[in-house]
Amino acid sequence: MVEIVANLHAHTPYSDGHAYHHEIAQAAARAGIQVVVVTDHNVLVGGKEGYVDGVLLLVGEEIHDPRRQPQANHCLVFNVDQEMCRWASHPQRLLDEVNKRAGLSFLAHPCDEASPLDIDLSAIPWLDWDVRGFTGIELWNYMSEFKTYVKNVPTALLAVLMPSLFIRGPSKATLRRWDALLAEGRRVAAIGNADAHGTPIRLGLLAKPVFDYAYLFRCVNTHLLIERPLSGELEKDKPMVYQALREGRGFVAYDLAGAARGFSFTARSGAAQAEMGGQLQRHGAVRFAVRCPRSGLIALLRNGRRVALRFGKALNHLSSEPGAYRVEVYRFFRGWLRGWIYSNPIYVT
Ligand SMILES: [Zn+2]
Ligand SMILES: [Zn+2]
Repeated sequence: MVEIVANLHAHTPYSDGHAYHHEIAQAAARAGIQVVVVTDHNVLVGGKEGYVDGVLLLVGEEIHDPRRQPQANHCLVFNVDQEMCRWASHPQRLLDEVNKRAGLSFLAHPCDEASPLDIDLSAIPWLDWDVRGFTGIELWNYMSEFKTYVKNVPTALLAVLMPSLFIRGPSKATLRRWDALLAEGRRVAAIGNADAHGTPIRLGLLAKPVFDYAYLFRCVNTHLLIERPLSGELEKDKPMVYQALREGRGFVAYDLAGAARGFSFTARSGAAQAEMGGQLQRHGAVRFAVRCPRSGLIALLRNGRRVALRFGKALNHLSSEPGAYRVEVYRFFRGWLRGWIYSNPIYVT
């Protein structure tokens, strides 16, 4: 397997973003990531996919019902060559139509909260939790988390100038929601993204370019394990990337707190073995192995409950119980223990 770094949520002027597709891909190249997916609101922009400066640029759609007030239920749709926003008002129908076309769907910033300071930054959570058939959830959305720190003017100012002092991890509510779905025996893949808009922010005389696309692509990303190295050809690489995404073969990482490339989480039982996103049938005990490229506080969780905890670059654990096992790793960064890596689960049966 080959590890690639992807960011799957960004906007252009086709909706409310600042830079165009090729500029976003150039920013991704500067940030050193391999894949970027542009997801404008309720529009599927054609003719943009391909390689730009060595980055695979793909186009999806972020769907919501603009008539619904207050706003809710943003859904990221990938791998569908048709605009899907006509089904925005009916989330289950939308997911069914996406599945009919072999597309992928991720509930975007599902536990989004409002900024206490600015009414323009209202909460846009997912509300229709009885839906079935979505591929996964956006576990960590950088801009959605950032919004929660815009509490008052001084804090907002500091947060805009030095966001890395604030960013800490996915919200507890999102993690709880994910674990509850996993504990029900459902397969739910997790992704982590920027939700970059590139809007320049001015603070009086200060016109610091904050939250530009390249900065955000160095922060919260989705690392995917693909079968072969990227070939540089859209037709070959696109299905490979989306297959890894469909299976949840990878992990979410805050790369600014330490490059997370090289992280691995595997499970073995008898002759069978599985990696992130995979299923493992038990033959006696299951041997879990976690390896990190840097030291951190490593936690192994089963159906949301912690079963092992260790500081270092590795964790090994033996278990005989079925369930969805996933890993969280924390790292000291900017004086605080922050969320660094969130693996997709291994489903032990
Ligand atoms: Zn959104
Ligand atoms: Zn968005």
